[in-house]
Amino acid sequence: MQKGCFLSVVVPMYNEEEVIEVTYGRLRSVLDKLGETYEIVFVNDGSRDRTADIVRSLCAEDRRVKLVEFSRNFGHQIAVTAGMDHASGRTVVLIDADLQDPPELIADMVAKWREGYDVVYGRRIERKGESLFKKMTAAAFYRLLRSMTSVNIPVDTGDFRLMDRKVCDALTSMRERSRFIRGMVSWAGFKQTSVDYVRDERFAGETKYPLKKMIRLSLDAMTSFSTKPLKIASVLGFVLSAVGFVYLFVVLYQRLFTDTTQQGWTSMIAISLLFHGITLMLLGVLGEYIGRTYEEAKGRPLYLVAEAVNFKEETEVSREKEAEHAVGK
Ligand code: UDP
Ligand code: MG
Repeated sequence: MQKGCFLSVVVPMYNEEEVIEVTYGRLRSVLDKLGETYEIVFVNDGSRDRTADIVRSLCAEDRRVKLVEFSRNFGHQIAVTAGMDHASGRTVVLIDADLQDPPELIADMVAKWREGYDVVYGRRIERKGESLFKKMTAAAFYRLLRSMTSVNIPVDTGDFRLMDRKVCDALTSMRERSRFIRGMVSWAGFKQTSVDYVRDERFAGETKYPLKKMIRLSLDAMTSFSTKPLKIASVLGFVLSAVGFVYLFVVLYQRLFTDTTQQGWTSMIAISLLFHGITLMLLGVLGEYIGRTYEEAKGRPLYLVAEAVNFKEETEVSREKEAEHAVGK
């Protein structure tokens, strides 16, 4: 692996054939201006379109472009992790492939890093071109998560951020499967600061985060950073038992000392359904944690790499070529 490059940019991609060349162009013009050594690590998360081919041809032209090809789709957070595993820079930037996070901001992030910050995250002060539903659920999610966890996860930030090598190493040493990277960065600590930006519309294509994946990510975030949902069960249990107990006395009193006895099968059924519902829901909460514990216990690798392009050093490649030559002769 190339050692000593200044900046690594990690770009996860899932079916991004329409944007990837433009993304490369914009990244390149920003990075060239920095006047430092850099690499761009593209991680292909099992795309079914031409994404990998496009990146491969970029790799052939520019040795600073690298490709990690997954054996299948493992998900965004895992793709980012693989990129960090393969990055060699003093600093590492995580950025989406769709240009919703402006690459131009990287220069500001580097400036902050030079001031002595270890993590510089982008804070979205406005999100363009996203549906009201997405904006509202995102806003609600960040705030709910904040109220549930003891880790101080900043609201309205995505994964777009610059990290120092030591933070990147800290993160890659955490091999948990339910990954919520922005939470893990907050957990890691170090000196953190933010730069504000307006989140643009997707350059082309459509979101690769359908509702299902968003729910999964939210559940991962909740379960990996909070055990409060588990405590809700016991609190609710205590409260309901107390109410039941008091009510028992009310009913007994009515039966013994008054003429009005409570009647009604309908209300019985309604209450019974309600409480069965609550019980099953809490079992589901338990299940979320148990399922994740099981996944961790299996200890499988986070991802499988089918191919890694341009990760060998220049000298190694030329030596290999020489060897091939020699064999050819
Ligand atoms: N992505 C990925 N694997 C997935 C889904 C998404 O690598 O399974 C990548 C995608 O290519 C993009 C980034 O993650 O670079 C963010 O996805 P997207 O822009 O679709 O999410 P949104 O911005 O709509 O939340
Ligand atoms: Mg996007």
